[in-house]
Amino acid sequence: MAVQVSIVKCSTYDENEVLKALRRSIDLIGGVDSFVKRGNRVLLKPNLLYGKSPEKAVTTHPAVVKGVIQIIQEAGGIPFIGDSPGIESAKRVTEKAGIKAVADSLGCPIVEFNRPVSPPERKGKVFKSFEIDQSVLEADVIINLPKWKTHAQMLLTLGVKNLFGCVPGTRKALWHLKGGEDAKLFAQVLVDLYQVIQPSLTILDGIVGMEGNGPGSGDPIPLGLILASRDPLCLDQIVCDLLGISRNSLMTNRVALEQGLGRNGVVAVGEKPEDVKITDFKLPNLQRLDWYLPGFVKKPFKNALSSKPVIQKEVCQLCHQCVEICPPKALKGDKKGLEFDYGKCIRCFCCQEICPEGAITIQQGWGLKLVSRKP
Ligand code: SF4
Ligand code: SF4
Repeated sequence: MAVQVSIVKCSTYDENEVLKALRRSIDLIGGVDSFVKRGNRVLLKPNLLYGKSPEKAVTTHPAVVKGVIQIIQEAGGIPFIGDSPGIESAKRVTEKAGIKAVADSLGCPIVEFNRPVSPPERKGKVFKSFEIDQSVLEADVIINLPKWKTHAQMLLTLGVKNLFGCVPGTRKALWHLKGGEDAKLFAQVLVDLYQVIQPSLTILDGIVGMEGNGPGSGDPIPLGLILASRDPLCLDQIVCDLLGISRNSLMTNRVALEQGLGRNGVVAVGEKPEDVKITDFKLPNLQRLDWYLPGFVKKPFKNALSSKPVIQKEVCQLCHQCVEICPPKALKGDKKGLEFDYGKCIRCFCCQEICPEGAITIQQGWGLKLVSRKP
């Protein structure tokens, strides 16, 4: 049977309106009782990239988190929030993002993901030995709460990508290294992880999303939508439809569909996709062209056929968070400035993702610029 993805309009973060829209989005796909039973421990996994105020659209909005906590509690579930942000603690990020205040007001604890364990069942196709956080395994139900944002490496971060935060702290860097320069391989990491975690419900905060230089420094854009589904992969496919881009342009979709996942099909319920299409959404620039080239061609043309991170010196505050997070240690910094080793750089764009000042932008190589040129 085709998997349902509900689409509900919501143009404001007014708490009552958000709660109403959340209820409708869940009712359209079976109702909360089909996901949560009385006494269930329910993990809520928002996007907590780093601590910014809600209007920056970096994190899942507190009104969405609050509404979901209320719905879970009414159903008799026991919610808790967990994530492994890039640099700061989950507590710090939730404080800055306005989530801690709403969680505290409803008695919902916030858990740091710092207890890596190997799940007993290994379902991934290629990567079978993930370490995820113990709290993820201890939850009876996982509710995934992504934010609709662009992503320099993966094009968009939506339902499937948001689950990467279930990998605790520094172990995320290891997976970036395993994916290396191959975006398709990194997409496989994400798809394998999705199969391991299997959230029961995914609710996408698309009331205000982020376009352009996402996922940390793009521009907020009102989209006016909440989407919900049992399957984040299907939800991601519907987002592509709404944006008018091919489902395969999102590498996680392509990898998953190639290996036969999501074969039962997807059906939108609630608003008709054609009635709520998003036009003029700024995607990140094309990042690379060398995915399928053999190594001996790829290497000499690496800089021409891929994009690279560059620093805007006048914006950089020399906090060195980018240096700390860089998986292959391709970025060095001192009190005077930063220096990239582009030979070592695997183009994961973790540095751009984590920079709290938006000081790292993505520059296309000349080969990419040529093909991206508008006729
Ligand atoms: S580029 Fe950003 S993260 Fe890196 S040192 Fe400068 S301000 Fe910090
Ligand atoms: S310099 Fe930036 S893009 Fe390059 S490997 Fe390091 S974190 Fe990734």
